[in-house]
Amino acid sequence: MMHVILLGPQGAGKGTQAKMLSKAFALAHICTGDLFREHISKQTAFGKKAKQFIDAGKLVPDSLTITMIKERFAKPDCKKGFILDGFPRTLAQAEALDEVVDITHIIEIKIGDALAIKRLTSRRQCKVCGKIYGIDIPEKVKGKCDNDNSPLYQRDDDKEGAIKKRLHLYHEETEPLLEYYKPRNITFSVDGSLPVEKTFQALKKILEETSL
Ligand code: AMP
Repeated sequence: MMHVILLGPQGAGKGTQAKMLSKAFALAHICTGDLFREHISKQTAFGKKAKQFIDAGKLVPDSLTITMIKERFAKPDCKKGFILDGFPRTLAQAEALDEVVDITHIIEIKIGDALAIKRLTSRRQCKVCGKIYGIDIPEKVKGKCDNDNSPLYQRDDDKEGAIKKRLHLYHEETEPLLEYYKPRNITFSVDGSLPVEKTFQALKKILEETSL
């Protein structure tokens, strides 16, 4: 049973890689950012609370985030294993996670801040199908989704001011989690600056070799 955490700064490609891995290994893909955005678009009370933090480039408080992820773990698709994308992001979240599941892999996707900023400022997403574009995967017709021709939008927290805050928070709050997990000997690292497929092959190899 695989319970994988992908760690890495915004723009490292966690979402893209998590989607590819979840297909290849039949694992549930749990992305806290997407869960929050879903609550926001449905205008739930939970979404309204989270939105003010997200738009400001801050972390949503641990209590809200932990409640939300526990609800997600209760869904049946998690029984076959999962990949966490965007969680845990703080020590309190990592400790709360340890109370409910055994993590099998922590994989860091490494990129530098300059590349992260370049990727995030160019990131655009289709509102209809969710496909993500950017410097590495440009759309064919500017501003339109290749799949359905819908307009692409930029996330409010992908504006430059919020990006810098988010990267700072990553280094301050999330990167230290690598030290937290290190003694368990389940931490791995891949190069996230490579083309998507190359990074994917490196991740796939880690999961294949450790599940023998
Ligand atoms: P992401 O799409 O992963 O960049 O997440 C977007 C935003 O959602 C983040 O900047 C945070 O405001 C919020 N968020 C996502 N995951 C978490 C988490 N584990 N803890 C706190 N806030 C989170």
